[in-house]
Amino acid sequence: MTTPRALVAGNWKMNGVAANLAEIEKLNGLIAEGGANCDVLVCPPFTLIHQSLQVADDRVDIGAQDCHANFSGAHTGDIAAGMLQDQGCKYVIVGHSERRTDHHEHSELVSEKAKAVQETGLIAIICVGETEGERDGGNTLPVVTTQVRDSIPADATADNTVIAYEPVWAIGTGRTPTIADVAEVHAAVRQVLVERFGDSGNTIRILYGGSVKPENARELMSVENVNGALVGGASLKADSFYGIIQAYD
Ligand code: PEP
Repeated sequence: MTTPRALVAGNWKMNGVAANLAEIEKLNGLIAEGGANCDVLVCPPFTLIHQSLQVADDRVDIGAQDCHANFSGAHTGDIAAGMLQDQGCKYVIVGHSERRTDHHEHSELVSEKAKAVQETGLIAIICVGETEGERDGGNTLPVVTTQVRDSIPADATADNTVIAYEPVWAIGTGRTPTIADVAEVHAAVRQVLVERFGDSGNTIRILYGGSVKPENARELMSVENVNGALVGGASLKADSFYGIIQAYD
């Protein structure tokens, strides 16, 4: 079975102005000096994508945090996948729990967005995860596997799909699931991917996200079927983001 090359992705969320591009410059330097044994991605807000692409060296990919499901048209304030591709983005996050909550995005829409991303030639990072109530009710596996099944578009391939498992209650809280819980959910997601894509489902990266820090990254990244991290808060500073990248030394 081929283990996919890991991906450590930073999600800056609604943080950052031009001055923060210095963190990408610093990240370039840390990687140039210490190396990176995984793919590295930074997803800044839309307003910094162009400048981030100019600053990032070729070991740091730049992606977006969302896009519209349509390719163009009367959608004031929205951004199409083709616009992101035109700028030089390689990945687009879709279905982040903050969008599922703040903008009432359900898996059907997430699938349409992922389809737009993939048809544009980019890689969709499809986020899934249970709420605390769903976990407490013993429903984590059905919730997460249903989200995975419903959020992956019909024409997706193993090459243009990444899944990020992010328990909603672990995002930005400093809390993480147990290693056994992470292993259980990632194994269930892997099974869905193999049912759907056959053997190539084993090559799809399944990221863990939710309060990943340099202090816990090595343990979380060593869990079977964890092929990288989606990192919020700790991605805002190059030092802590690089500390997570070093889990793959
Ligand atoms: C996220 O935003 O996807 C995330 C995991 O945030 P944090 O690392 O801050 O928990």
